[in-house]
Amino acid sequence: MRATANEPNNGVLRVAILGSGPSGSALAAILARRGAEVTLFELGRRPELLVGESLVPAVIPMLRRLGIEEQIASIGLEKPGASFVWSPTDRFSFTFARFAPAVPPYAYNVPRPQFDEVLCANAIASGARIVRSRARVERASRESGTELALTAETLAAASHWRGRPPDLIVDATGRSRLVARVLDIPTRIGPRNDVAHFAHYEGFRWEEPIGQVLITRLKAGWSWGIPLRDRLSVGIVVGRTDAERLGDTAEERLTNAIALEPPLTALVGDARRVTPVATYSNYQLISRRGYGPGWVMVGDALGFVDPMLSPGVSLALLSAELLAEGLTPLIHGRSPLDLASTMARYTAAQMANLDAWFNLVAYFYDGRMAAMQRAGREWVEAGPNFLRVAAHDHIERQVALQASGVKVASRYGCGLLRLLGRYGLRGIDPAALAIQ
Ligand SMILES: Cc1cc2nc3c(=O)[nH]c(=O)nc-3n(C[C@H](O)[C@H](O)[C@H](O)COP(=O)(O)OP(=O)(O)OC[C@H]3O[C@@H](n4cnc5c(N)ncnc54)[C@H](O)[C@@H]3O)c2cc1C
Repeated sequence: MRATANEPNNGVLRVAILGSGPSGSALAAILARRGAEVTLFELGRRPELLVGESLVPAVIPMLRRLGIEEQIASIGLEKPGASFVWSPTDRFSFTFARFAPAVPPYAYNVPRPQFDEVLCANAIASGARIVRSRARVERASRESGTELALTAETLAAASHWRGRPPDLIVDATGRSRLVARVLDIPTRIGPRNDVAHFAHYEGFRWEEPIGQVLITRLKAGWSWGIPLRDRLSVGIVVGRTDAERLGDTAEERLTNAIALEPPLTALVGDARRVTPVATYSNYQLISRRGYGPGWVMVGDALGFVDPMLSPGVSLALLSAELLAEGLTPLIHGRSPLDLASTMARYTAAQMANLDAWFNLVAYFYDGRMAAMQRAGREWVEAGPNFLRVAAHDHIERQVALQASGVKVASRYGCGLLRLLGRYGLRGIDPAALAIQ
C-alpha cells in the first residue's frame, strides 16, 4: 500500500479486487461493510457450466456470516453427506449430521454460475462497486514503490477513481492467475496430471439419499456425481494418457467413460446430457509467492488443491475471511500495523490450509484412506466391544472434522492420520486401492 509505506494515509483503504468468483466477492462484501472503498472487476457473463458445485460443511458458517445462506438454500440442494465407492466391497457412506455439532450437519450442492451471482450481488449490496470489464495488470515502474499496477485502460474503466490508482490490488482471478503470470511467479505443482470432463444430465438413476455426493473409483481415475435441484452433475477425473485413450474430444471421453465404467453406466447410461461437456486441467498449483508491495492473491489465484473432497470454494471463502481480518485495522489508514506483515501472516495461514488439504487428499489417491477404512471395519467386526467401537468412532470423527473443512489443519487429526497410515493398515496393501 503506497500511502502507508511512505506517508500517513488518512484516507480510507481503496481496494481493487480482480475477479468476482467466491473469493473476490466475499472479500469485497466484508471489506465494503467494514468501510473500505472496494471496486470489483469481472469479465462479464459467466459460462453455463462452472466447477465447484459441491460444498463442504465448513462453508455454512461463512455463508451465514455473509448473510446469504437463505439465498443459497433457494438455488441449491441440501447435501447431507457423501458416499465413497472404492470397490464393490469398499464402500463408505456417511452423513455430516453424525458428527454434529462439531461439524455443521449439512452443506449444499449449487449451480455455480448462480451461486457466484448471489455472492457478487451481495458484494454490491454491501457497498462494493462493480466494473464489468477484463482487468489487466503490468509491472509497476521502480519509482512507484509498488510491484504491480493496473494498466491505464483498466484504471480508466473505474471512472470513479478519477485516475488515482487503488492502494491495494487483489488477484481473485482464479486459475487464470493473472498476477502470477504477469510477474512470472513460479508455482508448486501437485503430483497428479489429471484432466476433468463434466456435464449435467437429466433422467439419471439415483440410489443414494437425496443430495448425497457420490465419489466412485473407476478402472482409470474417479468420478463424481453431484445432484443439483433438477439434474445430476457427472464428472470424470483421469490421467492424461487415460483421457487420450478414451477419445479425442471431451464429449467422446465422457461418453466412452460412461459406456465403459459399470458404475457410470448404471448411473447415467440411459440419461440425457443437457449441457455441453466442460474440461479442466492443470489445476494442482500453488503459487510460490502470494503477495508483494501493493498486491495480494486470494482463492485459486493463490492455490488450488484438487477436486477430490471439494475443498475449493471453502478455501476461497476462507482466504477472503483471513485477508479481510488482516486488512480491517488498516481500512482507515491510521493503524500502526504494517501491511507487509499482515500479508505475510495471511499468506502463511492460507498456505498451511492448502498444504493440509493436499495431504488429506493424498490419502484418498494413494489408497491409504480406503485401506484404513477397511482395516477399521474388519477390526471392529472381529471383536466388537465398547473400546473398539469407541476408538473407531473417534477416528471417523477426526477424519470428518478434517474432510468437512472444519479442522483440516488440526495437528491432532493430521498426526492421527499419519500414525494410522503407517501402523493401522493391518496388512492391507493401499496400492491395491489407489486411484490410477
Ligand atoms: C475439476 C474441478 C472440480 C472442482 N470441484 C469443486 C467442488 O465440487 N467443490 C468446490 O468447492 N470446489 C471445486 N473446485 C474448485 C473451485 O472451482 C474453485 O476452488 C473456486 O471456484 C475458487 O474460487 P475463486 O473465487 O478463487 O476463483 P474462480 O471461481 O475461478 O473465480 C475467478 C473469477 O475471476 C474472473 N476473472 C478471471 N480473470 C479476470 C480478469 N482478468 N478480469 C476480471 N475478472 C476476471 C472470472 O470470470 C471468475 O468470475 C473444482 C475445481 C476443479 C478444477
